[in-house]
Amino acid sequence: MATEKDYYELLEVQKTATNDEIKKSYHRLAMKYHPDRNPGDKNAETRFKEINEAYDVLKDEQKRVAYDRYGHHAFVNGGMGNGNPFSGFDFNFSGGFSDIFSDVFSEFMGGGRSKGNNDYAQDGADLRYNIEISLEEAFSGVEKEIKIPSTKECETCHGHGTADGKEAPICPHCNGSGKIRTQRGFMIVESYCPHCHGEGRLVKDACKTCKGEGVVPNEKTLKIKIPAGIEDNTRMRIPNEGQSGIRGGANGDLYVFVSVKEHKFFMRDGANLYVKVPISMTCAALGGTIEIPSINGEKIEIQVNSGTQSDQQKRISSQGMTVLRSEKRGDLFVKFRVETPTNLSQRQKELLEEFREISKDENCQPESKGFFEKIKDLFVA
Ligand SMILES: [Zn+2]
Ligand SMILES: [Zn+2]
Repeated sequence: MATEKDYYELLEVQKTATNDEIKKSYHRLAMKYHPDRNPGDKNAETRFKEINEAYDVLKDEQKRVAYDRYGHHAFVNGGMGNGNPFSGFDFNFSGGFSDIFSDVFSEFMGGGRSKGNNDYAQDGADLRYNIEISLEEAFSGVEKEIKIPSTKECETCHGHGTADGKEAPICPHCNGSGKIRTQRGFMIVESYCPHCHGEGRLVKDACKTCKGEGVVPNEKTLKIKIPAGIEDNTRMRIPNEGQSGIRGGANGDLYVFVSVKEHKFFMRDGANLYVKVPISMTCAALGGTIEIPSINGEKIEIQVNSGTQSDQQKRISSQGMTVLRSEKRGDLFVKFRVETPTNLSQRQKELLEEFREISKDENCQPESKGFFEKIKDLFVA
């Protein structure tokens, strides 16, 4: 029989509580009053049943609104407005349980889904793993070995969660369906079975190793192949490598979030690479060759043309990043910065003074010459 107690009081939350607050409080209370943790305690069993009933309503926005307006009558008098008081009800309790379990691992994303084909089975949650690689690794592709928190079937009970390691007997209260129906006046109310909490099987003596969960925590080592040319902030989905399903439930998926570290030398934009190279004043003026490393460590010889200016850019084709799933490579853009010499020796100064003297009437620096010609008439005095 359904409780007449206030659902908010049962879940120990305010009427204004957010969905998250309700969920958190429910998880805490469900853990506290779980029959497996309170064997033989009738009060705990009743309480467990009540908080589940309350949560079933308050977690659903539509049902919560109806409850706020009509109280418990919302669910026995067809108060949902469409003549069917059961519409929108969710009797699958296993989903909620996978959520509780997933709290153990903070990296789990979301709760369990339900793709298993029976109420007894529980699907594993998805798992997130963050990995950071260097730009060189993103260029060539890399294989990484990662360790992820996982679960494996409990060996003691072979995943059944029972003390004797045998499959738990079918729950006699619901005949294994996980659902029970109670008559309330003319209405028949269907809810999950409080004895087996919707699992359809009744674990009387819980396995001590896994406390009846059927699985134990386990660290899993996986080799992840990161393809050449991968972009920063890429999410890779690796099916079935998430949390293990329980008792025939499907495994969750593993999501590897790849970020690429900043490089001290190269900047990346898609498949192209950019690099700033300082060159000496004489190299810029007279021309020359410089050598820089490519992203894969090879030497690249770059011709600096005579008369190169600061911020001039040179494109070196096919020396950029690898293009994902392609044989192609992007380009490398080299931007020159002309370095003005400092800390000159006496001899250097003399030579430059001489250079200045003989350059006076030459047109070797037309830009600055032109500039000062143009601003002449801006001087007031
Ligand atoms: Zn076990
Ligand atoms: Zn049952």
